[in-house]
Amino acid sequence: MEDVPFAPLLIDGERRPASTGATFSVHSPYTGDLASTAAAASSDDCRAAIQAAQRAFPTWEATPYATRQEILFRAAATIASEEWQRKAARWMRAEIAMPQEHIQFNFMAGPMLLKGIACMVNELKGETFPSVIPGGQVFVQRRAQGVIYSVVPWNAPIPLVLTAVAVPLVCGNTALIVDALHDAGLPAGVVNFVPMSVQSTPALTAEIIAHTAVRKVTFTGSDRVGRILAIEAAKHLKPCVLELGGKAPSVVLADADIEQASRAIVSGGFFYSGQICMATERVIVQRSVLEPLVSAIKSHLSTLTVGDPEHSNLSALFSERSADGIVAMIKEAKDAGAEVLLGDAEKAGPALLKPHILLGVKRETRLWQRESFGPVLVVAVVDSVDEAIELANASEYSLVAALWTRDVYNAMDIARRIHSGSVNINGSTIHAEGTLGLSGLGGSSGYGRFDVNNFTDKRVITLHPPIA
Ligand code: NAD
Repeated sequence: MEDVPFAPLLIDGERRPASTGATFSVHSPYTGDLASTAAAASSDDCRAAIQAAQRAFPTWEATPYATRQEILFRAAATIASEEWQRKAARWMRAEIAMPQEHIQFNFMAGPMLLKGIACMVNELKGETFPSVIPGGQVFVQRRAQGVIYSVVPWNAPIPLVLTAVAVPLVCGNTALIVDALHDAGLPAGVVNFVPMSVQSTPALTAEIIAHTAVRKVTFTGSDRVGRILAIEAAKHLKPCVLELGGKAPSVVLADADIEQASRAIVSGGFFYSGQICMATERVIVQRSVLEPLVSAIKSHLSTLTVGDPEHSNLSALFSERSADGIVAMIKEAKDAGAEVLLGDAEKAGPALLKPHILLGVKRETRLWQRESFGPVLVVAVVDSVDEAIELANASEYSLVAALWTRDVYNAMDIARRIHSGSVNINGSTIHAEGTLGLSGLGGSSGYGRFDVNNFTDKRVITLHPPIA
């Protein structure tokens, strides 16, 4: 048997066990086998990490932009290396049953994002303009904020960790979180990693956010936990950036390219079994193309395999509990009158679920309202474009939407009327650049001016003319 990997803490440049010696374990949702263990940070460890980040901040903030950029480029090269990827793939397969195509996506996206983030140093610019006082000058500078607490989910570990940590870093902040970054030459304390057991996470998080040195929280995950962090941050008047869930609609109009649309819906809805914030969860289709669209979707789905992560397109969901929750949502929608076009509303293993398609799901049901985070498509039929827009907007989530039509001029107008952080015309939903509604607060992933504004403060210096 292979050695079970162990994730230590990273504090002040040193990898170490928890001060209490506590650990927690992660089991494969597919086999139930022990996948890894990690140090379970204590309150003392979190304090030590914050202090290390606080000490490292002034030097890191003063580090030349080019040096920050070089470190991120080096980390990108490590993540692109065969040796690193071999280790990471084993880990992702074991801990979260990640199929090969999603592993490849992580490996493609990680280095690319990191290089894009490194180039953000070009956006760290201020402004100068004449003051209202004749002869005076105003200098607006963008300055790093300090220690940032970043919390990330499990579902796309490489790009999400990198974004959550590298964006604050390139802006000159220090962050609490990781190996490739540390090994690329970040000075001690600039990046710290404090994994926590499920039981201790809420209390430790409240302590970290309350610490005076922590200036901002950045969170990617569910709206349920996002609210908890936002409340903790609000208690101390600290800002937070939230990147939350979605219920992405794909709107298919009568003049759409059905073959292209169906392929994009299958890849958008079933990639990593739908466990992606941008997953296509709702299909809103004009009546005249319902039948060809559904049969094309079914035909593409019939080529997907469900089983072990190494050899299948769809594998175990995050946990048995998440699979049970999705099945309960499907059954509730069915009992409320939805027609099941594909699937048997049952699991195929403890955490395994085959693709499902439901037609006519009532808006009052959880399957319409909540993120399923599983391989389930909800199809709704409409008779007009106005009805399609109204239905696309009938969700509290507004992360991303797709729109399929050959009429590009009309598409621009419809896209403007869809309330969503991003609208992708004739593309999959798996691409988002902004967040609205329950999908988040202040999030953006354009790796440019907006992100720089998120992780820097505006400081104004005025130069007054001599008094005559
Ligand atoms: P989650 O909200 O349950 O957990 C996210 C992270 O928060 C985890 O690291 C978890 O350990 C931690 N956490 C849980 N309770 C906490 C608490 N009380 N205090 C502090 N931290 C706590 O989400 P998840 O199941 O890990 O991920 C799936 C969710 O993430 C989905 O809703 C998905 O849409 C969303 N997501 C959003 C984006 C985006 O960019 N918008 C990207 C990926 C995932």
